[in-house]
Formats: sequence, structure tokens, C-alpha cells
Amino acid sequence: IISKLPQTGTTIFTVMSALANEVGAINLSQGFPDFDTSPELIKLVNTAMKKGHNQYAPMPGVQSLRERIAEKTEKLYGAVYNPDTEITITAGGTQAIFTAITAVINPNDEVIIFEPAFDCYAPAIKLMGGIVKSLELEPPDYRIPWDMVKRLINSKTRMIILNSPHNPTATILHKEDIDELSALVKNQDILILSDEVYEHLIYDGETHHSMARYPELQQRSFIVASFGKPFHATGWKVGYCMAPAFLMSEFRKIHQFLVFSVNAPLQYAIAAYLKDENTYLSLPEFFEKKRDYFRKGLEQTKFKLLPCSGSYFQSVTFDDITNEKDSDFSLRLTKEFGVAAIPTSAFYTKGTDHHVLRFCFAKRQETLDKAVERLLKI
Ligand code: GLN
Repeated sequence: IISKLPQTGTTIFTVMSALANEVGAINLSQGFPDFDTSPELIKLVNTAMKKGHNQYAPMPGVQSLRERIAEKTEKLYGAVYNPDTEITITAGGTQAIFTAITAVINPNDEVIIFEPAFDCYAPAIKLMGGIVKSLELEPPDYRIPWDMVKRLINSKTRMIILNSPHNPTATILHKEDIDELSALVKNQDILILSDEVYEHLIYDGETHHSMARYPELQQRSFIVASFGKPFHATGWKVGYCMAPAFLMSEFRKIHQFLVFSVNAPLQYAIAAYLKDENTYLSLPEFFEKKRDYFRKGLEQTKFKLLPCSGSYFQSVTFDDITNEKDSDFSLRLTKEFGVAAIPTSAFYTKGTDHHVLRFCFAKRQETLDKAVERLLKI
């Protein structure tokens, strides 16, 4: 066969988690909590199953869940989405991203992405015959150089992919970024794919600048969100996409033949759970405590901390420890010291190595303690 993705290997998340399991390391690589989702939410799943919600959900998702999402979005960001035509429940954020890209990218369309970038963007673009135009961001701040974005834009530019709070760098978009972006896309035929799966994990009282807040951006955006991250249930693989009807109708043409519909009882359960806004409004405080605790621990080690404004990732540099490549060091760290992290060069097309590792701090305090104890031995 002729490979459709000759440059693509196995995703770094699978590689590092498998290695962590194999050698019994503390797994701070792939992003997922090591504590359970709420018992109340599990009860709601049971109730949904007992009530007989065990057959296909409607293709776009369970109505009540789409309604709760519309309410939440209006309350938080002021945007009105029609649950019937503008919101679709997906099998996680990754499916939403793949579906949005495949729905609108044609051969030779150019898509601008910012690296380090979550690893599912580029393969989907390439599969559609699109061209990935990547711009590399620099630590420690990873700010988007808008003048360079401007230079990349031409008549073939079809989409810009944004991600805030950002995985892996834990940075967030600021109002100035929004202003620059708005000026750039004004009167241009450019769509936005906004990966906002960490929308509720934002710290220090900062604002999440969802595309939904800005009508001129909202009307050209696919916004992707997730329930796995906020509700500590990454294994459920339930997320959603919101977009204006003219985009969502194309999205659903693909969605219906990719997965048809998503796990029904989980959707009923999440819809009921979302009635209490505290389920997501409490998250910044919950994760900020973990962030601060983990940072304090890391400060005792030879690693140097990068800023963390959102997401559940903390990045560090390791120049005072070794000049190995980040990929080599992350393997050695896992095998010799028993802590797994993600080497961030995996998120650059060119494998650019800034000697930055990403740790996930969505873990119990005792796990973070144990990890720091091991990292202190370096
Ligand atoms: N989003 C998670 C992370 O960044 C993992 C996603 C995945 O494994 N596909 O670690």
C-alpha cells in the first residue's frame, strides 16, 4: 500500500504511556487525571442506562445536552448557538477537530498552525490534501508573532488553528491576540478552528478568550470543547463542536458517516450534571491548587519552570541537568528515574528541541509528591 501519512508514527501520548506502564513509572506524560470522576456523575450514567437510554443517540447528539451547552455558552461567552443546527456532540475533542478539518479543507488549501501544536492537527490537514503552514513559537512565553502570521496569509489560506489554553505550553490567548487576529481575518475568506478543550482550566483570575465572545470571529469559527477534561473522564471520549449553521451543516455530513452518533447514556448523564454550573465553575480553583503545589515541588529540583496560565500541564526546561535531546532525556527519565513526561519536540514538524518537557499535574497530591521525590534525585 501507499501510506497516506508516510511521516506519521505512533502518537507520543501512546508511546510514553506505554513505556510508563512497562517500566512502572509515575505517568505524568499523557494528560489524564489519576483520580476518579464524580460519584454523582457515575450515578447519573447508571440512571440513564436504567431508564433505557441504551440505543443510538440522535446523530447530532442528545437534545438536552445540546441545550445545556447552548445555555452554558451564552452565559459564559454571550454567544447564542442554536442547539438544533449549530452544536454537535462528538466522540471527544479529537474527533471534532478531525471532522471540522475534513469538512472544509480541500486540496492545496493552506492551514496555519502554531507549533508546538497538538499532534492531531497536521495529519488531518494532510489527509485532505491541505498544506500545513506552521509557525514556531518560542519559550518561555510562546507568544504568537502576528506580523509573521500576516506574512503567511495569501489567497490560499483557508484556516487558522488556535488553541487556548494551549497544549502543551499552558499559555493563553490575550485580548491583544484577539485584536490582531480580528484585524487579520477581516474581509478574508479564512475560517478558524479553535481548540478550547481546556476552557475551564484557566488560572490567576484570567479570562478565557473564547472565539464565542467575539461575533466577527465566532461567525467563522468551529469551536471544539470536551467533557473529558472538566469532568475528569477522559476515557469517556465525549466532546462537542459549535459553529454557525453554514459550517455545522458541512460538519454533520462528515460526522454522520464517521461515528454516526456518540455514546447515548453518557450524554444524558452529562446533560443532567451540567445543570449545576458549579461542576465547571469550581475547576480553576481546584486545578490552580494542584498547579501551585506541583510548582512548589519542582522549584526544589534542577528543572526550571515555564509559566502556566491554563490547562493541566506544567512545562520545564532542563539545561542545568543535561544537554541530551528532550526525546532521549524523557526516555531516560522514565526508565532510570521513574517519571514519564512528554518531550515537546514531538509537537514540532521539524522536531525543534528547546529542551522542554511537559508534565501533567492532574494527579492526586501523593502522586505529585512521589514524582517530585524522584525528580529531586536528578
Ligand atoms: N490531550 C491529552 C494530552 O495532551 C492526550 C490526548 C491523547 O492521548 N490523544 O496529553
